[in-house]
Amino acid sequence: MYYGLFPMPAYFDAHQHFHFEPLAPHRDAIEADLRAADVRRVVVNGTSEEEWPVVAELARQHAWIVPSYGVHPWDCGNRSPGWLTALRDQLATGPTAGVGEIGLDRWIIDGVRPDDPRIAGLRVAPMDEQAAVFADQLRLAAEFNRAASIHCVQAFGVLLDVLRSTPLPARGFLLHGYGGPPDLIKPFADLGAYFSFNIEALQPRLASRLENFRKVPAERLLVETDAPAKAPPPELNRFPLGSSSDGSTINHPANVVAAYAALAGLRDQPLEVLAGQVEANFIRLFG
Ligand SMILES: [Zn+2]
Repeated sequence: MYYGLFPMPAYFDAHQHFHFEPLAPHRDAIEADLRAADVRRVVVNGTSEEEWPVVAELARQHAWIVPSYGVHPWDCGNRSPGWLTALRDQLATGPTAGVGEIGLDRWIIDGVRPDDPRIAGLRVAPMDEQAAVFADQLRLAAEFNRAASIHCVQAFGVLLDVLRSTPLPARGFLLHGYGGPPDLIKPFADLGAYFSFNIEALQPRLASRLENFRKVPAERLLVETDAPAKAPPPELNRFPLGSSSDGSTINHPANVVAAYAALAGLRDQPLEVLAGQVEANFIRLFG
């Protein structure tokens, strides 16, 4: 196939969880699919202390994994007394490791159904505790100058407050699957934010999120899968892996290719041009 002046696109997944259990039986096949699709590097986010050694081991085995270590807002209430020292030690083991997935989530406090299996066994931390744990991790990211990968659901005002009052990594940070208001894109970008597009934005109920991704500055755009979560709609799912134990469709990491295609269409850009921009952005943020 002739691509004119542009090279074949290479792909970079700015946010996912290769270590999660639904993907474990498929790891070898996924690696082969990623290589065939030219997915060059992926950021794998550990979300609790128990996961950090698993992510670290996978990163040792696979050069395409950028490891990232953090305490997710859902796991915030169950952290150990020594968690912050443990995170510091974990970051010291590798010069490229990021800090994530960290952040704020109001839905888990007052939106989730009490019988939702995802919160079984969790102590849900209130917002002020989430914000303190988030700020502690941002300070570490700033001290080590590592990319911070941030989750935020229904707490964008608090997020802006914390980001404005806390040291931030000089290289910047990622607001993964950005679902905040359009008028905060510029203030966040001014603080160093990158924004990763997830294909879930194609759902009709997330139309405003789709619109946001026309407005994100080109030099701050990234693309993600959040695999094994957030599978694309069936007609775009070229890599079906079946369902996980909770009944949700498993998202294959190579579906990042479909997310790039959707974003290129949304921004009315040739895929190869978008891919070149996203590659430069990924390397600037994650090294
Ligand atoms: Zn995630």
